[in-house]
Amino acid sequence: MIFTILGYILVILVVAFVLEPLFKKHRTLLQDRGKQAKEYLVQLGTSQDTLRDIELDMQTGKLDQDDYQQIVQESLQEQKAIREKIGKLAGMSYEKWQHKLLSEIGQEPQKQEKNICSQCGAPVSPDDRFCAQCGHKINF
Ligand SMILES: [Zn+2]
Repeated sequence: MIFTILGYILVILVVAFVLEPLFKKHRTLLQDRGKQAKEYLVQLGTSQDTLRDIELDMQTGKLDQDDYQQIVQESLQEQKAIREKIGKLAGMSYEKWQHKLLSEIGQEPQKQEKNICSQCGAPVSPDDRFCAQCGHKINF
């Protein structure tokens, strides 16, 4: 009987010894992924900042329209690529991942306001109380 128990303990010890590095490897993998995701988010933020900066440069005349358009296109492409990378890392689309993240920290994702009339689809501004096209009451 005692040998059976000792036998079990030995088996458990051996299994634990073998599996431990695997768990460790898995854990580092998750940590690496987190680090990588953070890096991508920083890149995304930088790209969004760039977009804001050049918008200002355009408004103040430091940048001409063509250059502005080009940089905007490049920035948007870059952001799309980064979002795809984050999505790949998370195993889901970036939007879904962000949604999940926000709900995990107890925050409702921002609702995208559709600034169109629900009656006729004409564009309306959030300040409008009635649609200029069809007179439908606007509720935001
Ligand atoms: Zn309308």
